[in-house]
Amino acid sequence: RVKEKWAATRVKHPPTRLALQHFDATYGAQLGELWPSVRVALLTEKKYGALVNNFSFESGTTDLQAQRCRDFISDSYGRAEPSEVGAQEQTREADSNDQQVSPPPLSPNIKCFVFPRGDVTRFKPARPDKYGLLGYYLMDAASVLPCLALDIQQGHTVLDLCAAPGGKSLALLQTQLIRVLCVNDTSVSRTSRLKKVLHSYVPKEFLTDEQLRVTSCDGTKWGEIERNTFDRVLVDVPCTTDRLSLMEDDNNIFSRSRIGERRRLPQLQVELLLAGIQAACPGGEIVYSTCSLSLNQNLSVVEQAVYLAQENFGIQLQVVNLRGLTKLFGDTFCFAPDLRLGEMVVPHLAANFGPIYLCKLRRLT
Ligand code: SAM
Repeated sequence: RVKEKWAATRVKHPPTRLALQHFDATYGAQLGELWPSVRVALLTEKKYGALVNNFSFESGTTDLQAQRCRDFISDSYGRAEPSEVGAQEQTREADSNDQQVSPPPLSPNIKCFVFPRGDVTRFKPARPDKYGLLGYYLMDAASVLPCLALDIQQGHTVLDLCAAPGGKSLALLQTQLIRVLCVNDTSVSRTSRLKKVLHSYVPKEFLTDEQLRVTSCDGTKWGEIERNTFDRVLVDVPCTTDRLSLMEDDNNIFSRSRIGERRRLPQLQVELLLAGIQAACPGGEIVYSTCSLSLNQNLSVVEQAVYLAQENFGIQLQVVNLRGLTKLFGDTFCFAPDLRLGEMVVPHLAANFGPIYLCKLRRLT
């Protein structure tokens, strides 16, 4: 029991509680009968994935195999024989009259280890190799999906518009196919963290000024600076970070002092996506992602940006179907069913990853 005189200084409505009230009201309606399971998972310790550092001399793989976890990416490919996928799709097509779905082209060489479904063992900290490079990077395994969906190919120029602290940039670099990677984040302190992460995992010879550009610009202005340039653009925007908002009161986006910032998020997200679309070259591809379940920050943002790209800049876009990706990784993640636009990993106690929303766009003009 808290004594009276101290209770007066306690915050009446901690931001974590405000976040939960907000989610109950919005996600309860949005996710329906799925919400209670998602809610309990969101309030429970999340699961990590270990992104293997291909640059490490000793590669984290041996350590990870010793911990008895598996690379969910190669594992899923191994299990999904082309004929098997085809047969499944035909059934689905017959059932739902949907278009036939095949596994999408994914960025190669990315490996991410996870413990089996329902196993909540924690990873041991990664060890440095003889050059001081760490063997793996711990992150939400679902965060790897936007990087896989980006379909990096040999010689690509890539922009990571909101890159810090750098988990996804590191995953993109694992492909070892990128000619130039631009990593940007408006926050100077977070950009320093991003540099530290890259230097802890990638040898200097892969981080020369020709290969890596690090900037701290306001991403919403990128379209004014550098248009029609990049083969691939990742727009991993600031959002309500749903899981974190339920766990930490410090600097919480649901605190009273940040109400205005939270309300402006969807507008900022549209502006960032629009800038990313402009930065891509015609034929180039853009992946938009958040770690929120919010319709307003996900589907609505994509819809608005696609509309504004056409109206304001005459850019036509095609939404790329990612159903093949959800089919492929359906054993590892729990995906929200029947989203109109994009795909979403929803937290589940047996597979407590996410939330991660992703939507892929291709520039037609
Ligand atoms: N992609 C990162 C990763 O995988 O580690 C996480 C990015 S985090 C979800 C969103 C980032 O957007 C934050 O680091 C924040 O500083 C940055 N940000 C916020 N407003 C921005 C803006 N206007 N331009 C560029 N970055 C911005």
